[in-house]
Amino acid sequence: MNNLAERDQAVIWHPFTQMQTAPLPIPIVRGNGSILYGADGREYLDVISSWWVNIHGHAHPHIAKRVSEQLQTLEHVIFAGFTHEPAVELAERLLAILPSNQSKIFYSDNGSTAVEVALKMAFQYWHNLGRPRKKIVAFENAYHGDTFGAMAVSGRSAFTAPFVPFLFDVEYLPVPTPSQEEAVLQQAEALFTEEVAAFIAEPLVQGAGGMTMYAPEVLDKLFQLARNKGILLIADEVMTGFGRTGKLFASDYLTEKPDLMCLSKGLTGGTMALGVTACAEPIYKAFLSSDKHKTLFHGHSFTANPLACTASLASMDLLLLPETQANIRRIAASHTAFSITLATYQTVENIRQHGTLLAFDLKAGEQTSYFNNIRDTAYNFLLDRGVLMRPLGNVLYLMPPYCTTDEQLRYAYTQIEKLLTTI
Ligand SMILES: *Cc1c(COP(=O)(O)O)cnc(C)c1O
Repeated sequence: MNNLAERDQAVIWHPFTQMQTAPLPIPIVRGNGSILYGADGREYLDVISSWWVNIHGHAHPHIAKRVSEQLQTLEHVIFAGFTHEPAVELAERLLAILPSNQSKIFYSDNGSTAVEVALKMAFQYWHNLGRPRKKIVAFENAYHGDTFGAMAVSGRSAFTAPFVPFLFDVEYLPVPTPSQEEAVLQQAEALFTEEVAAFIAEPLVQGAGGMTMYAPEVLDKLFQLARNKGILLIADEVMTGFGRTGKLFASDYLTEKPDLMCLSKGLTGGTMALGVTACAEPIYKAFLSSDKHKTLFHGHSFTANPLACTASLASMDLLLLPETQANIRRIAASHTAFSITLATYQTVENIRQHGTLLAFDLKAGEQTSYFNNIRDTAYNFLLDRGVLMRPLGNVLYLMPPYCTTDEQLRYAYTQIEKLLTTI
């Protein structure tokens, strides 16, 4: 029998991977806290929470226990015409911690579908009111997922190039980074018209677009401008939700609350796939009618899977513990201190932080795309030293599970410093 990586290569096509040139994947046999254990006995410190999902680290015993109990009780049930305790309890508990204007929870399978549902709700809201609006405004460089609707509202890039002819048109605003704020607000005044159905944004941090950060105050102003034209506000909190930016949700930094919110990634603590689209009461009400045509005709086979809902409930138990909230503050403070060290390096620029998420740019000369070599150099250098980071082009970031210890953080910081003195 071949080893696992070779068996994998014979049968599997990996995400975001050029299969011709990619090295063999690394077999992982076990996880515990922030550590992943390789089949060869090597350890990897997962400071990106495995694609931003494992907020409590790997194989957390509380989540494992709750999910295995649920598995022996009810693994799945059709969610049209039927319901179950984990789905109802999760919706109740989510609404208790989401901004107070959120009133209903719609379940789907992942971040992209949470965005699809929000877009469909927004378009059909206007359709049902008999005042159809056809435009969406999004930020340049946004990332909202890989399905077609989610791709359409994302920025156009090498990732979307083959599909551009099939994506609906979207109007873009530049991201209101500190030097751009006034210019963006001016453009927004022109773009936000009564033809716009919704404005979608990743609040405070654009994730996959390069960890671009901006201030809550300017997003509040944009939300107010949009609100003045009746435009629905969609907060894609798939990455920022569940404590990542310091508060439970990035929207908690805003005065103007979104009409629709998309959640996934940290929702189940990274245990299972689940998506949530939350909406405010007026959206829900626009679908209530004796006319069946006003129904939201959307659903997935695994909608509100009881195991996934239970994983989310267990993850929420952990998230709301005072220890976890203290850990979030501890990691944020540790990142802030490390930022001061980072600033002393000539090769580093644009250091930025929201809560437990710290990002900075490596000065990369001319080429600064996802495809440049500095990305691979940094990725391999850190991986060789047992630190799993996945730079976005020349952007390095740390997004650790909240259980990551000070010692583990120090180890990661030290390896980053070694990288900075090498490149
Ligand atoms: C990852 C991500 C998505 C897509 O979520 P998937 O579960 O990967 O489909 C959508 N929006 C944002 C902001 C994300 O970071």
